[in-house]
Amino acid sequence: MRITIAGSGVAGLATAVSLHAAGFRDVTVFEAEPGLRPHGLGLNILPNAVRELDELGLLDAVRQRAIRTRELAMYNPRGTLVWREDRGLAAGYRWPQLSVSRARLVTALAEETRRRLGDGALVTDARLVGLDRTPGRTRAVFANRDGATRTVETDLLIGADGIRSAVRAALYPGEGPPPTNGMTLYRGTVWGPPFLTGESMAVLGDDRRRLVLYPIDRDETAHRTLINWVAAFPDERSEARSATDAAERRKVILRQLGDWAPPGVDLAALIERTPDIQRYPMIDRDPLPRWTFGSVTLLGDAAHAMYPAGSNGATQAVIDARVLAWHLARHRDAGTALRAYEEERRPQMTELQRSNRSLGPERVLTMAHRRAPGGFGDVRDVFSEEELAEISRGYAVTGKFDQDWVNTRPSLSAGGAR
Ligand SMILES: Cc1cc2nc3c(=O)[nH]c(=O)nc-3n(C[C@H](O)[C@H](O)[C@H](O)COP(=O)(O)OP(=O)(O)OC[C@H]3O[C@@H](n4cnc5c(N)ncnc54)[C@H](O)[C@@H]3O)c2cc1C
Repeated sequence: MRITIAGSGVAGLATAVSLHAAGFRDVTVFEAEPGLRPHGLGLNILPNAVRELDELGLLDAVRQRAIRTRELAMYNPRGTLVWREDRGLAAGYRWPQLSVSRARLVTALAEETRRRLGDGALVTDARLVGLDRTPGRTRAVFANRDGATRTVETDLLIGADGIRSAVRAALYPGEGPPPTNGMTLYRGTVWGPPFLTGESMAVLGDDRRRLVLYPIDRDETAHRTLINWVAAFPDERSEARSATDAAERRKVILRQLGDWAPPGVDLAALIERTPDIQRYPMIDRDPLPRWTFGSVTLLGDAAHAMYPAGSNGATQAVIDARVLAWHLARHRDAGTALRAYEEERRPQMTELQRSNRSLGPERVLTMAHRRAPGGFGDVRDVFSEEELAEISRGYAVTGKFDQDWVNTRPSLSAGGAR
């Protein structure tokens, strides 16, 4: 079976490696960007996806330059603790939670794709620009920067081309651009002294603003960590227009969050020292009624882009890849396999997309602010322990990354029992 993948992000490359592990050899990934120079700052991979990287033999490559996140701690803007929980190995998972640079993760996946499937399996400067679906045959048209096109006839086309997916647009021509909730994300990375445990993710928030900080690398000799930070708030129109360079962006962020007090972090100094600050609207996608049309399906952000709360973007892309490969290896007929993949994944991802629209587990910060807008001395005056634990546990169950399930579920390796 000839399999064509559009997009070489985490989703497309994890799919290529998973398909190889499941016995498929005629697999090609087409990437729109001219060279493979992966971008991106930090992201998190939850233990359910780390388990899959481990079963693919990729754990060592990814772990080398990642931080094993051991706690999540949430605070109000003054730095009063709202909720803290162990994460990864510390929480009893058999696999760690990893905080890692996206560029590093994509590079590890690309190297493994080439090692397993050959250099020709990863084609860059090839943007999917057209799709022709006639029963029993799919043709995908790719264009390079100069406009030269190449048509590929394929048995299966997987759209792993991200939140602005061309495959999705071909399947849903009226959909339009991704919707935004009016929030703007500012992001950067900067070296600084370790904070909290040195392997903590800290999230601060009120009812409309957020600040997330976590390390993605460390330099033992200099006793410092590479801190990935994300600030999110509704941008004032005039601010948004003027914030075109790093100096302006620093001012905008400090106007919004300058008096916030993440424990152990000098926020103003951190923002001032960050060399490059990126700015994006917070966007996602509406859940779809269907991902699969004949021999074309969607995967990763192309299928279910969600707001960045709860560390699920890259995590769920890896799980999609493994589930799809598992079903394709199990079912003789590709159509049956695609249906089984979608039946397993789409309802879960729809629920997670909806949960992330209320910012997933971070909604406790909104609730804390609404219940005690002037702040509080002890979170137990605002919440019961059970209420907080239930919000966290409920989100993990929705995303199928609760500890019992991750540690004990059957393997998704095609040779494994299920
Ligand atoms: C440049 C970039 C930086 C990012 N940085 C971060 C970050 O710092 N933190 C974070 O949490 N998440 C980040 N993300 C998002 C995160 O990678 C995804 O949410 C998650 O990993 C799921 O990935 P995906 O492979 O489905 O989509 P993506 O990561 O978006 O990958 C999609 C890939 O498809 C390619 N592509 C797009 N259109 C076409 C086309 N028509 N034909 C062929 N190829 C196409 C893109 O160039 C890209 O390589 C970033 C995404 C991108 C593209």
